[in-house]
Amino acid sequence: MNKKKIIVVGGGFAGLEATKVLAEEPGVEVTLIDRNNYHTFQPLLYQVATSSLEPAEVCPTLRGVFQSADNVRVLMGEVSSVDPETSTVVLDEERLSYDYLIMAIGGRTTYFGKEDWRERSTGLKELHDALTIRARLLKSFEEAEREPDPEKRKEYLTTVIVGGGPTGVELAGALAELRTHVLKGQYQNFDPAQARIVLIEALPQLLNGFPDELGRYTKGVLEDLGVEVVTEQPVKELERSAVHTADKVYRARNIVWAAGVEGYPMAKELGADTTKKGTVKVCPDLRLSGRNNIFCTGDMAHFETENGKPLPGLAPVAMQQGAHAAQNILRLERGDLTEKFVYNDRGAMAVIGRTHAVANLFGKKPLKGFVAWVAWLFIHLLFLVGYRNKAVVLVRWLWSYIGWRNGARVLNTLYLKNDPLTEHADVDKAVEKELVGSGGRG
Ligand SMILES: Cc1cc2nc3c(=O)[nH]c(=O)nc-3n(C[C@H](O)[C@H](O)[C@H](O)COP(=O)(O)OP(=O)(O)OC[C@H]3O[C@@H](n4cnc5c(N)ncnc54)[C@H](O)[C@@H]3O)c2cc1C
Repeated sequence: MNKKKIIVVGGGFAGLEATKVLAEEPGVEVTLIDRNNYHTFQPLLYQVATSSLEPAEVCPTLRGVFQSADNVRVLMGEVSSVDPETSTVVLDEERLSYDYLIMAIGGRTTYFGKEDWRERSTGLKELHDALTIRARLLKSFEEAEREPDPEKRKEYLTTVIVGGGPTGVELAGALAELRTHVLKGQYQNFDPAQARIVLIEALPQLLNGFPDELGRYTKGVLEDLGVEVVTEQPVKELERSAVHTADKVYRARNIVWAAGVEGYPMAKELGADTTKKGTVKVCPDLRLSGRNNIFCTGDMAHFETENGKPLPGLAPVAMQQGAHAAQNILRLERGDLTEKFVYNDRGAMAVIGRTHAVANLFGKKPLKGFVAWVAWLFIHLLFLVGYRNKAVVLVRWLWSYIGWRNGARVLNTLYLKNDPLTEHADVDKAVEKELVGSGGRG
């Protein structure tokens, strides 16, 4: 009997869960394609950016995850297009045909139409972004150590984070603690505690979508940590080393853009309706309208609940949708009807520094402070992929909790190649050649 061919594009939260469900069904053949050879646990990227965790601890390889699944083939490559008419996906020069397709390519950082801002700041969406932020931060501290002019030094020591959602809040809190505690006493020309961290949010409150009480609490904790929190100030202009709001200009060598996610342009090619954000509108069973064998899941999908509200871009939404799309394929194969997707909402959380967090757990009183932090810690360990990673991350967290020691802050200049934001970003030519030869991005 010919086995049905299922292609899953994207090994993020949605693609991984879909493939796990299908891996249990020997009657189907699965091809999982990702442009990286690893899964990215995005919720902990900010800890890679601030040197608390190392890449392998949050990015298990896809081959490793599926090493014992005989019916799963993992391919590394970037899918450039999908042709629903011929049921094929294009991977480099190759065309791969499918009986069913699960699209799970996530989204990319949005600059709200200001495309030239993309190269003037760093997003925080991929491992490469986290390592670039890390390299820029460490490099600018090195520059500050050599810089005699106090005004210029200030610029090197300033980080502006745009976007007061969970990503911006978590990064700001971790940076504040890095400069005050971890880097303490390591420089002679300046005190790292003087480094300035500014968090800019366009809305009146941080953590939009959480109860106001938690937004206010978060602002208070960040301010206690020494973060300048600026609300109700949309960014008007972004230069390579300056952020302009209506009121002020913030000069900074490190600018992180954490203000939202949009769909990849490829999502539009699927022939389905898309939203202004470029996400793909899906039917209640996660299929595309008029396409019986294509499912769209996770951040790239726009799914409206019965009250007309779209689901947020969260890991649990993506995981549940990935698993549901796979189960619907298996239902169709058994000759059954597909089922509607219903999100099991358990809430959302964000961590602020080492011992504070906020949690809006569904149906429960909002949690804040140490209790929420402990809940955050256990939930993240639970969802982290692989037992080894869970153990290593737990040990690292305990170590840093006890002694304010975090990872080896090794500055990898590969991530500063041609970086316009650092003055002495002089990457060794041989290393540069090696990077180009090996295909670029790490
Ligand atoms: C910094 C950060 C922190 C976050 N923190 C939280 C949190 O604390 N809690 C929470 O619930 N959510 C959090 N989120 C949101 C959550 O990570 C996303 O909702 C989730 O990752 C979406 O899963 P996905 O599978 O749809 O997409 P992704 O996880 O983004 O995966 C998409 C995959 O597709 C691959 N891909 C993309 N294009 C192609 C292509 N053309 N060809 C081949 N492969 C491709 C990518 O390499 C990637 O592996 C956070 C997000 C970020 C960025």
